[in-house]
Amino acid sequence: MAPLSQRHRREDFEAHRVYEYPQHLRQAIEDAPTGAGVYTFHGQEGDLPLYIGKSIHIRARLLSHLRTPDEARMLRQTQRISYIRTAGEIGALLLEAQMVKAQHPLFNQKLRRNQQLCSLQMTAQWPQVVYARDIDFACEPELYGLYASRHAALEALRALADQHKLCYGQLGLEKLPAGKACFRSAIGQCAGVCRGDESPQAHRERLLGSLLALRVACWPYPGAVGLVERDGDFTQIHVIRHWCYLGSAPSVEAARQLSRNASQVAAHFDADSYKILCRPVLTASVEILRL
Ligand SMILES: [Zn+2]
Repeated sequence: MAPLSQRHRREDFEAHRVYEYPQHLRQAIEDAPTGAGVYTFHGQEGDLPLYIGKSIHIRARLLSHLRTPDEARMLRQTQRISYIRTAGEIGALLLEAQMVKAQHPLFNQKLRRNQQLCSLQMTAQWPQVVYARDIDFACEPELYGLYASRHAALEALRALADQHKLCYGQLGLEKLPAGKACFRSAIGQCAGVCRGDESPQAHRERLLGSLLALRVACWPYPGAVGLVERDGDFTQIHVIRHWCYLGSAPSVEAARQLSRNASQVAAHFDADSYKILCRPVLTASVEILRL
């Protein structure tokens, strides 16, 4: 670590440079498409991806990067900008999520790792933490919420209990000695199932009610579907199976082919794709083809 005075000087220097217009990117941005898609800022060494972003209007989004002083450092390091057009917003969102996950760009801050992805599954007893690496979340019933870790899942359950005065003992969050009420019931934070103020059945119903908004929807089709997006003559069919994005194709035939080829690959449930696709698939707000 540099001495404080030196660090200050460097920060001043950086702040001064913030206002330098990244001239070297001007032409690239003028040439950028106006439609939807994904863009990549490439750095010096080995064309390394520095940042991957998406927009329904690529050129306007790039211009807004130039107006963001916090991004000056990234823009100075950028040597080249590349684009992949998509026919709409869903395609841009899916492709961006896929590319960020595959390429780990330096300046994309969100870590999108799926290894620990878990959910709460209701059992006869209480909600258990289950992992996407063990079961397919797309077809498993009674899943509530998507969490980045076991810790996050249990925190969410605890928050739900606090909000609805549910008993930590009944939820498996706390081990109660037989016949003993929990501490929270004494201070009015548990409605008292543990001391007979409420039946276990009533408690369970309240728990299920409180979980409802978190429910993970099962994949509603027997197989793959294509989500159709169009921008003028440009058509894309996004191939989706079990909430997994398998790629995009220009025609129904190519989409079927893609779906067949991808069937060999074990695509894992992915929280990003699920969040992007949930509304368009469940509300059929876009054209959906059975493949
Ligand atoms: Zn209690």
